[in-house]
Amino acid sequence: METQTLQNPNTANGAKTIKIIAGPCSAETREQVLTIAAALAKQGITYFRAGIWKPRTRPGSFEGIGTEGLEWLKEAKEKYGLLICTEVANAAHTKAALAAGVDMLWIGARTSANPFAVQEIADTVKGHDIPVYIKNPINPDLNLWIGAIERFQKVGITEIGAIHRGFSSYANTDYRNDPQWQIPIDLKETFPNIPLICDPSHIGGTRDLIQPISQKALDLGFDGLMIETHHTPDDAWSDAKQQIVPERLDEIVSGLVVRVKTLKNGNQHELEDLRAYISQLDDELLNVLERRMNVSEKIGEFKRNNGLMILQSQRWQEVKGHNEDVAKSKNLNPKFVSELYKCIHQESINIQEKIVGLQE
Ligand code: PEP
Ligand code: MN
Repeated sequence: METQTLQNPNTANGAKTIKIIAGPCSAETREQVLTIAAALAKQGITYFRAGIWKPRTRPGSFEGIGTEGLEWLKEAKEKYGLLICTEVANAAHTKAALAAGVDMLWIGARTSANPFAVQEIADTVKGHDIPVYIKNPINPDLNLWIGAIERFQKVGITEIGAIHRGFSSYANTDYRNDPQWQIPIDLKETFPNIPLICDPSHIGGTRDLIQPISQKALDLGFDGLMIETHHTPDDAWSDAKQQIVPERLDEIVSGLVVRVKTLKNGNQHELEDLRAYISQLDDELLNVLERRMNVSEKIGEFKRNNGLMILQSQRWQEVKGHNEDVAKSKNLNPKFVSELYKCIHQESINIQEKIVGLQE
């Protein structure tokens, strides 16, 4: 598939083009599919998504219209020249989608977490060189995501993409699915040539988060966006809260800034100077950390020699409170400082446990 150009004046500086995949969470009726498809085609969108089989977490909600919906997608393709994309979760879905001439398949998050289902789909697409995009598994397990991608590589699929849709988490966060950006970044390191698409709809779960998550993804070097779009989102049969109207999609996409990695004219001295400064500060940070851990070792020895417990929670509360206060008085995010100190404190405990475990 060719990459669609993001209609954005900011790409004039040589930034790469961004693939945009848009369409409803679910195909609901023929009219709904064709209305949304017509609006998106008019806006220059090439890739049209719609779920036909919907894996829902709880029974009783809309589980997709089934194979009948493939006819509506075919019609959207014929009428508006769109490339049609849908989710498959087993061999039967895959056979039906291939027979309907679907242009791109994606593997949903619940399916990516299940190697048997992934293998069954991979075996079914073998010999059909259809693009396959693989969402991250619902749980934050990079190897499971890598494994799903490898299963499609092994059967000879040449266009493979990865879709980041965030990870389920029991904790309450601002997101429907926690983005944990480091995981897709690590995936990109493993597969530098696989396009990485962000799905801000399932990460955010609400309309107002689509724009900031999309911009963040582009700033992190993502290659495209999959955004749920519906002409009457409030009435959508699934994921109503996160779907946006085609006009809003157009507004968001044209406002996105695609930044370049390196300047064409090579004039990056200022950036290089700042990076050199950062590297120097990193060395200082690591030196201080080394000294701090050496002191932890001495404390460990003292605790061992005097039969003291390793975790002194009152002292830890003091350290925590003090560092958060200092962060507040400086230009530092207290939440960041508190997370950082949790890690440092854990490492101190590890060091002391080793020492206390040793014989005097
Ligand atoms: C979807 O794209 O509508 C979907 C079901 O997504 P996910 O697999 O990311 O939950
Ligand atoms: Mn959805």
